[in-house]
Amino acid sequence: MDYIVFDLEWNQCPYGKGQENERIPFEIIEIGAVKLNNEKQIIDQYHVLIQPRVYKKLHFRTKEIIQLEMKDLENGVAFYKAIREFLKWCGEEYRFCTWGNSDLLELQRNMKYYGVLQLLKGPLAFLDVQKLFSLDYEDGESRKSLEYAVDFLQLEKKKDFHRALADAWYTAQVFRKIDKDIAEQFYSIDCYQNPKKKEEELHVIYPGYEKYISREFSSKEDAMLDKEITGSRCFLCGKNVRKKIRWFASGQKNYYCLAYCPRHGWLKGKIRMKKTEKGNVFAVKTMKLTDEAEALQIKEKKEEIKRKRKEKRKQEKKSQSGI
Ligand SMILES: [Zn+2]
Repeated sequence: MDYIVFDLEWNQCPYGKGQENERIPFEIIEIGAVKLNNEKQIIDQYHVLIQPRVYKKLHFRTKEIIQLEMKDLENGVAFYKAIREFLKWCGEEYRFCTWGNSDLLELQRNMKYYGVLQLLKGPLAFLDVQKLFSLDYEDGESRKSLEYAVDFLQLEKKKDFHRALADAWYTAQVFRKIDKDIAEQFYSIDCYQNPKKKEEELHVIYPGYEKYISREFSSKEDAMLDKEITGSRCFLCGKNVRKKIRWFASGQKNYYCLAYCPRHGWLKGKIRMKKTEKGNVFAVKTMKLTDEAEALQIKEKKEEIKRKRKEKRKQEKKSQSGI
């Protein structure tokens, strides 16, 4: 299998968010990619400038960052043509690699805008090299800039950053320094094209945790009625285990629970509700092995939320009675 390391540059509405086209807030103007074989050797590269059709003037920040002028882009290729050409170049069997998770999202959003999203069937498994760098060299949580990683690994800086091909090339160089096992175990899933039916739902087991991505529901309340979403299964033994703390909401999007497996110990559950473009929701649930200390933190979090809710209710009563 080949690796396609790609990077995009995009433009946004030069007149501010108020006038942007919501279906395409970021218009892709450049694609750069390098192809690596299974041994991570660079075997090919791809570059294209794209002629803007939505925003015909460069946002000042775009101009500043990538050092391109509109006249450089005017002779570019139309996006719907460029994307076909790019995907053809990618080949049959490949995995996308990007720095962070926004390039794949914007690529699909642009494809949808031009009515060619069917060329790339999602949800898409990919390698987020920014995340992998953190897992291999830092704490797994941090997200550093590409230039930081290049400096950290003392890689040669031959090209300017912030042009698509150069950034793809740098990302590939960082990727080559990532431990093979880490890269294989911690792949990411892009859910811009989220599961629609039960059969499309995803269960992925990572070292130490399980991730489940549900189909769509009309509301989060509706989703929280689903047995699969609210279930607490230990991903190590496959058994449904008892919850010590039932799901409770924290903020608008998140729910937490705490479960205990007699064989494997504490499991921390988290559900994050994600909105689709049409306003439906789907759930991303993780069940993660945890320790006594973190179990206690969840308990405290729940108490804290309870306390705040009580306080709020008191205040509301007060204001209603006009005191
Ligand atoms: Zn278990």
